[in-house]
Amino acid sequence: MNNKAKLIIFTGPSGVGKGTILADFFKRVDNNIVYSISNTTRNPRDGEINGMHYFFVSKNEFEKMIKEDSFLEYAQYSDNYYGTNKKFVDEKINEGKSVLLEIELQGALQVMEKRPDAVTIFIKPPNFKELEKRLRGRHSEDEETILKRLEAAKIELTNANKFHYTIENDTVDKAVDELIRIYHKETNL
Ligand code: ADP
Ligand code: 5GP
Repeated sequence: MNNKAKLIIFTGPSGVGKGTILADFFKRVDNNIVYSISNTTRNPRDGEINGMHYFFVSKNEFEKMIKEDSFLEYAQYSDNYYGTNKKFVDEKINEGKSVLLEIELQGALQVMEKRPDAVTIFIKPPNFKELEKRLRGRHSEDEETILKRLEAAKIELTNANKFHYTIENDTVDKAVDELIRIYHKETNL
C-alpha cells in the first residue's frame, strides 16, 4: 500500500494523556511517521531528556529563533514559550514521512491556517474532574501552574469542534487504537 505523508496536529488539554498515548502509539506504528520535537523555555521535568522530549532553550535563544523565522508556529502557554521547528517538518514531509505535532490550541490554530491540509485531532478527557485528577496525579507542576493549566483547559475544550477528529481518552488502549485507525485511514492512499 502506498503512503501519503501528512502533517498531523495532536492537541488536548494538559494532563489529558497525550504523552501517554503517543508513547504507545509510536511503539506500535511503522517509521513512516515521526514526532516533531518542540522547542520550549520551560524547565525539564524529572526524566525528560534534551533533544528527545524537547529542545530546552533559554528565552533569549527562543526569541532569536522567532526573529530568524524558524517556527512553523509558536505560542506562549503557562508563562513559557513553545514552538515547532519549521525546517524539520518540511524536510520530513519532503522525505515522504508524516509528522505528528503535539501542540496546544493556539499553535494548532496557527498551523490550521498555514497548512489547511493538516489532519487535526483533539484528545478530550471523560470529564473535567478526571482531567484535574490526572494533572494533579502526575505531580509534575506546582499549584499555581496546575491552576493556569486548568484555566487553559477550559478554553481548549470549547474549541474541540474545530478539529477533524475527537478522541476521548477513557482507557489508553482504546485511545491508541483509535489514533492508529485515523493514522492509517489518513495516510494510506
Ligand atoms: P499530557 O501529555 O496530555 O499532559 P500525560 O500523558 O502526562 O498527559 O498524562 C497525565 C497523567 O494521566 C499521567 O499520570 C498518566 O499516567 C495519566 N493517564 C493518561 N491516560 C490515562 C487514562 N486513560 N486513564 C487514567 N490515567 C491516565
Ligand atoms: P508540557 O509543558 O506539559 O510539556 O506542554 C504544555 C503544552 O504545550 C501541551 O499542551 C503541549 O501539547 C504544548 N506544546 C508542546 N510543544 C509545543 C509546540 O511546539 N507548540 C505549541 N504551540 N504547543 C506545544
